[in-house]
Amino acid sequence: MIEDNYKQRGLRNKLVKKLREKGIFDEGVLSAIGKVPRHAFFDDALLVHAYEDKAFPIGEGQTISQPFTVAFQTEKLKIKPGEKVLEIGTGSGYQAAILVEMGAKVYTIEYNNKLYERTRKFLPLLGYQPFFFYGDGSKGIPAKAPYDKIIVTAGAPVVPTALTDQLADGGILIIPVGDRERQKMLRITKLNGKLKQEEFEFFAFVPLLGEQGWKQ
Ligand code: SAM
Repeated sequence: MIEDNYKQRGLRNKLVKKLREKGIFDEGVLSAIGKVPRHAFFDDALLVHAYEDKAFPIGEGQTISQPFTVAFQTEKLKIKPGEKVLEIGTGSGYQAAILVEMGAKVYTIEYNNKLYERTRKFLPLLGYQPFFFYGDGSKGIPAKAPYDKIIVTAGAPVVPTALTDQLADGGILIIPVGDRERQKMLRITKLNGKLKQEEFEFFAFVPLLGEQGWKQ
């Protein structure tokens, strides 16, 4: 059983307040961040940092995204309960937990086998049960398509056509695209088969690897 005491709940409330001050307004996103115990995703050595608005290492050279980044991407997806959401880059499972907490039906795929194995065993212990997949998410998961929403949590060199192909009509893809150092957040909406692209600020993600990502 993971301990979640008044101190941790207090730190979470402070984090939610900070995210509001930074411009996050979707109450569903803020409520989910107020509920998911982020400290449970941290090793003991880093536990004191769990509610800072920063990214942290999770092993295998990968990171748990900064809470602001998680909130920003999730807000841009306009999640409604019951929607089918594909996440590329399971990592620690924190983003998937936020989406499940918001009532989405979540499919999440991870390319790093150790992280995949670790997270698919760990996340259900917190009561979050997305569908876990192992493999190259730059190709999406065609067998389960179409998706109402797709979120890519690693930096891509281009928008993978596999992902826009797997969007349902009216669907939204949120993806950071750029070079290895920094990427612009893009939101792509599919309407009547046509793609509309909006651009937001720059972020710094670890690279999206794979066939439609970076080649190592
Ligand atoms: N969403 C994660 C979380 O909440 O902790 C953070 C993800 S981390 C910033 C990026 C993840 O994308 C890493 O775990 C990395 O192994 C994974 N990744 C990179 N390329 C991938 C690919 N082609 N398919 C699936 N996962 C990939």
